[in-house]
Amino acid sequence: MTSLEQERWSRVKGRLKAEVGDDVFSSWFARMDLEGLEKDTARLSVPTRFLKSWIQSHYGDRVLRCWQAEERNVQKIELTVRTAAIKTQAAKPRVDDQPEASRDQRVEKSNGAEHRAPSAAPIPVSTAHEASGGSPLDPRLTFDTFVVGRSNTLTHAAAKQVASARRGDLVMFNPLYIHAGVGLGKTHLLQAITWAGNANGDRKILYLTAEKFMYGFVSALKNQNAIAFKEALRGIDVLVIDDLQFLTGKNMQAEFCHTLNALIDAGRQVVIAADRPPSDLETLDDRVRSRLAGGLVVEMGPLGEELRFEILKNRVLAARAHHTGFDVPDSVVSYIAKSVTHNGRDLEGALNRLLALSKLTGQPMTMEVAEREVRDLIRPQEPKRVKIEDIQRVVARQYNVSRSDLLSSRRTANVVRPRQVAMYLAKTLTLRSLPEIGRRFGGRDHTTVLHAVRKIEHLLGNDTTLADEVDTLKRQLQLE
Ligand code: ADP
Ligand code: MG
Repeated sequence: MTSLEQERWSRVKGRLKAEVGDDVFSSWFARMDLEGLEKDTARLSVPTRFLKSWIQSHYGDRVLRCWQAEERNVQKIELTVRTAAIKTQAAKPRVDDQPEASRDQRVEKSNGAEHRAPSAAPIPVSTAHEASGGSPLDPRLTFDTFVVGRSNTLTHAAAKQVASARRGDLVMFNPLYIHAGVGLGKTHLLQAITWAGNANGDRKILYLTAEKFMYGFVSALKNQNAIAFKEALRGIDVLVIDDLQFLTGKNMQAEFCHTLNALIDAGRQVVIAADRPPSDLETLDDRVRSRLAGGLVVEMGPLGEELRFEILKNRVLAARAHHTGFDVPDSVVSYIAKSVTHNGRDLEGALNRLLALSKLTGQPMTMEVAEREVRDLIRPQEPKRVKIEDIQRVVARQYNVSRSDLLSSRRTANVVRPRQVAMYLAKTLTLRSLPEIGRRFGGRDHTTVLHAVRKIEHLLGNDTTLADEVDTLKRQLQLE
């Protein structure tokens, strides 16, 4: 696949995420890959049959629409199951594969309009929020379910303060800027602010992911009502933007900057979350960065073991309300809290698995079961690390040259192309820098490597034979 296709695909995914929200996206689309783009068909793959049929029946049109927004020519989506993954997946019930009911609920919860079960209670605040252009809200992410501990006390207090303010109150921290690593509760707090503020006040609070901000703005521009969109944004009391690190592109940043200034100058509250502090948002320009840093910047650290225990314990209780018969003894909760990393998502993943298992088999949650089911969350399997030597060896074999030819200064065509392919693979499959790759290819300059990478990228767009060769090489390197 060409890097151009990859780039399009990540934009399509961005759109999809902005439409369905983080939670739905990571439940269903996180492991969807682009296999290829041909004339009018986008070929996508997922790891399980269950995912395939679920996506087809619930999201087929959406996926297609997101593609068409990027690439007019795409008329259909072809979804396949990646075979290698099936075998390992089929052995034990996985969250994706099985608990349709519990997954259903998640989807219904976070995407109420589309999948609400007949018996489900209406979610008025969220519906109104989405109708006014906000990103989907997950009803579980409230202050009630947020557990406070050492790592998040200050941030929680600031968030509470922001949520409980009234129209006309003096704005204390503006913007409130929260940063923390993945899964440490940023989205949870931001959505809690939105729920609480919209439920109890006279203020209008809009929660937008940075992606939603970008795509909302782009489609408003396309529909020629960018002014209306800006006005709508400026007509709200509190603007909450999640995952600011994903805001890209000069125009978007300029728009964001205007919006930010307009809101703050008008005394409206702005709340931002990102995975890094303002000073590390390299792509933002200096003015925006300093404006962001000018309010209150708070960080949330890793969840401590106690906090993890409390979070899990609460989750078990919440799950019990819907699934009678499900229980996890404290000893098991404590084992999971101790062994599953620092990240809230993995905790939730661990619990979802136990829940799925309990629903499917009715097995009691013993320590033994827990150990078996969450093992891979304790020691997450890293994707295979590709080494530069392996690349050189596999490329040399494929093109029938020797490894020392690749490293030599020979410039005959039969050596030059394989060498460029190998450098390209080294750049795309490893984390090595250009100078480092240059050193490993017989002490070449980094500009030579860059030239090779660009050359191959360019050729891949037109030369299908080369594209096939590169695909084969990649596959071999992953399998070896
Ligand atoms: P982030 O947005 O920082 O990546 P999330 O807010 O999505 O992280 O949190 C990931 C998961 O961990 C969510 O299920 C969230 O509810 C849970 N979580 C994180 N911190 C807490 C906390 N302090 N109390 C309760 N749940 C938490
Ligand atoms: Mg988040």
